[in-house]
Amino acid sequence: MLPASLIAAKRDQQELTDAEIGFFVQGFAAGSIPDYQMSAMAMAIYLNGMTPREVATLTAEMLRSGSQLKWPCDGIKRVDKHSTGGIGDKTSLILAPLLAECGVQVPMLSGRGLGATGGTLDKLESIAGFRTNLSLAEMTQLTQSVGCVITGASSELAPADRKLYALRDVTATVPSIPLITGSIMSKKLAESIDALVLDVKFGSGAFMKTREQATLLAHSLVDTGNRMGVRTTALITDMNQPLGRMCGNAVEVIESIDVLRGGGPNDVRSLTIELCADVLVSADVECDPPSARRRCENLLASGKPYERWCRMVRAQGGKPEAALQVAPGSVLSADRPGIVSAIDTEALGLAIIALGGGRRKMGDAIDHSVGLEMLVRLGEVVRIGDPLVQVYSKQPDRVANMIRQAITISTTPESIPQPGHEYRSNESHGPDIDMSVVHGRIPCNAESSHSDHEYAQDPA
Ligand code: URA
Repeated sequence: MLPASLIAAKRDQQELTDAEIGFFVQGFAAGSIPDYQMSAMAMAIYLNGMTPREVATLTAEMLRSGSQLKWPCDGIKRVDKHSTGGIGDKTSLILAPLLAECGVQVPMLSGRGLGATGGTLDKLESIAGFRTNLSLAEMTQLTQSVGCVITGASSELAPADRKLYALRDVTATVPSIPLITGSIMSKKLAESIDALVLDVKFGSGAFMKTREQATLLAHSLVDTGNRMGVRTTALITDMNQPLGRMCGNAVEVIESIDVLRGGGPNDVRSLTIELCADVLVSADVECDPPSARRRCENLLASGKPYERWCRMVRAQGGKPEAALQVAPGSVLSADRPGIVSAIDTEALGLAIIALGGGRRKMGDAIDHSVGLEMLVRLGEVVRIGDPLVQVYSKQPDRVANMIRQAITISTTPESIPQPGHEYRSNESHGPDIDMSVVHGRIPCNAESSHSDHEYAQDPA
């Protein structure tokens, strides 16, 4: 096979065979297909898309480029969650120990901040000594002895993705649904899990700006996971304002611990429970979502998931009892009266980066102690002088303008934000459950309504 002929085929909107995709991905991973040919192929995929079958093959080949975790045949279910990322999204920190308390094991591979969004590994590294670079052997062993681990992807897992992601970053081919799907799913499937739930976010603080884009990506991810034998579902969730109150690193760990101990903000707790319920049902550990939710709610109220968190932190080298360092806080107040009608959530993420809480370029050190605490939510009425945001930093003035500009306070009644939900679960939820974040669900058995080349280009 000639690499240039395969690039030409994709350039001319033809469908590649499984053998052709395998040849290209394995050749690239082994170095016989150079970066410039892979870049051209990535651009052809970006422009012309791939069919669901091609996307699944691409994922399988990226997975095959590296190792996979191996588990004993002990009847224990292994599950995981992946979020496409958002501001204040700390659900992984709560979900892993909570699921472990439900009797499943969670070998979670997580990432660092990407763009304006924070990364789970960066948050965990607020805990002095916490190791996020476990070897495959340690990851396997700790998952079985503790019930959950959260660590970075080692270079042995899906190395083709590592190489391809670096190329996509510099060739303007990141926002392609087939390439995003291959990248996310090859790493998650390397965990050899039984079930996976995806949290696909849309809105001002998400990678996907509209619900339609997020839904298309969710279908591609769910379809690929299920084609590859892992029961996969997705929730479509709102990121038009931060999740919870705390955004940053140490402050998000503190808020997660609040939830693990039975408190914390409703939206964080409810979304985490919903994600857990989905994956517990997919893994056949619970028979329906209401009983799965009840189990998770009762566990959070018992404080047991917090004990499991402490075990995980200790096993990964941290001291759960040590206080987390948070910079001094100062309040930014409203300078006009009105209704909080819009929040540019991405701009808040950029403000955290400006404070030093995220990276401007690869390898930058992070100040884990800085962050923001949201004191208002969309739709709230504020008067002059009411607190908007608490800024945790020794230099809060550096971001005061950014934050003020990110929060729109309007005086006209038509500017009151409308939730605009289409998704309505027909199950009733208790008074403490805040389902406003969840806008849709893609079940395991969702019909793949996508015909040839529908997973095309930037989904805008
Ligand atoms: N996260 C990933 O791991 N890969 C992508 O392509 C996008 C987000």
